[in-house]
Amino acid sequence: MLGLMQDRPLLISAILEHAARNHGGAKIVSARADGSLVRHSWPEVAARAAQLAHALAARGVRQGERIATLAWNDHRHLEIYYGVSSMGAVMHTVNPRLFPDQIAYILADAEDTHLFVDPTLVKGAEALADKLPPSLRTIVVMGTEADIPADCPLRARFEVLAQESLIAGQPERYDWPELDERTASSLCYTSGTTGEPKGVLYSHRSTVIHGYAVLQKDVFNIGAEDVVMPVVPMFHVNAWGIPYAAGIAGASLVLPGPRLDPASLHRLIEAEGVSFSAGVPTIWTALLQWLRADPGRRFARPPRLVVGGTALPTAINAGFLKEYGVRILHAWGMTEISPLGSTNARLPQNAGWDEDRFLDYARKQGRPVFGVEFRVRDAEGKEIPHDGVAFGELEVRGPWVARAYFNRPGDPAHTPDGWFRTGDVVTVDELGCIEIVDRAKDVIKSGGEWISSITLENLIMGHPAVAQAAVIGIHHSKWDERPLLLVVPKPGASPSPEELLAYYDGKVAKWWIPDQVELVESLPMTATGKLWKADLKTRYRERSAG
Ligand code: ADP
Repeated sequence: MLGLMQDRPLLISAILEHAARNHGGAKIVSARADGSLVRHSWPEVAARAAQLAHALAARGVRQGERIATLAWNDHRHLEIYYGVSSMGAVMHTVNPRLFPDQIAYILADAEDTHLFVDPTLVKGAEALADKLPPSLRTIVVMGTEADIPADCPLRARFEVLAQESLIAGQPERYDWPELDERTASSLCYTSGTTGEPKGVLYSHRSTVIHGYAVLQKDVFNIGAEDVVMPVVPMFHVNAWGIPYAAGIAGASLVLPGPRLDPASLHRLIEAEGVSFSAGVPTIWTALLQWLRADPGRRFARPPRLVVGGTALPTAINAGFLKEYGVRILHAWGMTEISPLGSTNARLPQNAGWDEDRFLDYARKQGRPVFGVEFRVRDAEGKEIPHDGVAFGELEVRGPWVARAYFNRPGDPAHTPDGWFRTGDVVTVDELGCIEIVDRAKDVIKSGGEWISSITLENLIMGHPAVAQAAVIGIHHSKWDERPLLLVVPKPGASPSPEELLAYYDGKVAKWWIPDQVELVESLPMTATGKLWKADLKTRYRERSAG
């Protein structure tokens, strides 16, 4: 017997309509490149999104057509998010920090017809001009006519418009189509840390369900009173779902624009009363260092933070909590899973732990949120024991997990029984909490045993002379691979290799301790701010540990 409830589709247009109708009091604050602010409300976002959809429809944009953006977090990007998906087209965010060839590859793979470009990125788009694919007809500069350079060379091949002129005079209401909720809504490519970028095509249904899920208390814990600042870019897995979640909750949004330096972020947090923010550890590490440089730098009301994308260093978590009263929740996710997978929120079993014990535990990536199932299997396909020691690859499934990649039928990312293989190697403890010990490709295989490069990196980050660290496997004639530690010292520090290695004594098994140490000026990072291990491994390919 079927239930007797209405089958209203889960659509992104419904989020927009809800926020506009019921949350007119929330503010949408957007920072320009010069630091000045522009203020809107949800009804204004809805009106401008409708204008954009009318303009695109009038230009012949059809359902399913891909519309790309190269943009920061700002109100125009938000309007494109809602307008494009709500009309049934596909919002395709592209990471401007990728290499030009990767951007060109992604635009060609997606066959985008329109490209919206932030004014600060027009020069970059010009440099790309002869690599842009034939599908692309129109470039829309996200601003006014004054933001289009007078001698813009893009005009030679494309129609170049300003977003404000495009939407001017269009009706402020749009009769949004009642789409099948499984209709594609947006497209985001993995950053290619471990290979060619691959497209993940979200649906209205997956986006709305994920939007609800991230609002939970043990995830973002957002309500209508919150002022939410996504520092995680809108081109990085839909800013972890925040633009949609904020609409569902009717929360206020602060969109920080292109300037993500600590002083700019701190100014926005204080001036706008930001209560919640989210981003990768690099951003918060820089903010903590900046705060510490002047005792006058405090928070009137410390915001809550969610940190993910790479592991949260315990030293950063402890510094924020003990010195500034800022609570950080550690989360794990991936482009392929919209991105939320797990968070490390407290349980009855560890509610009574003292601060230091929990801060240490918070380095782990947490437990699955409802909606995502976890399975961890070893090389033989057997589920691993929940003892916090055994390793295996994490597999996931759920309504916001990709079942295939865009344009890549038969990609081997799924098991025959339909689970998505994350490529993350994890342990699971008695509380069901995972800890990522490595990427399957980065784990160091020494004498048939596995050494977690990430554990070694996290530990050495606690050494007072270390600003950044990376551990990679280098060739060894007897053990196959041995760990090499690369350290960027803090300014003015020059720790000796012996001193750094001694720091591992008693913290890891003896055979885990790296054989070699090298001090370096910097480490290569990917476009999403992660350590670029593939590049490091190429650089040290010829190095041998013995
Ligand atoms: P890419 O795979 O191209 O780097 P994603 O942004 O989708 O792009 O990255 C997902 C990966 O990032 C995960 O598979 C995991 O390895 C890593 N990751 C995400 N969150 C965390 C976290 N909290 N701790 C450690 N690693 C993380």
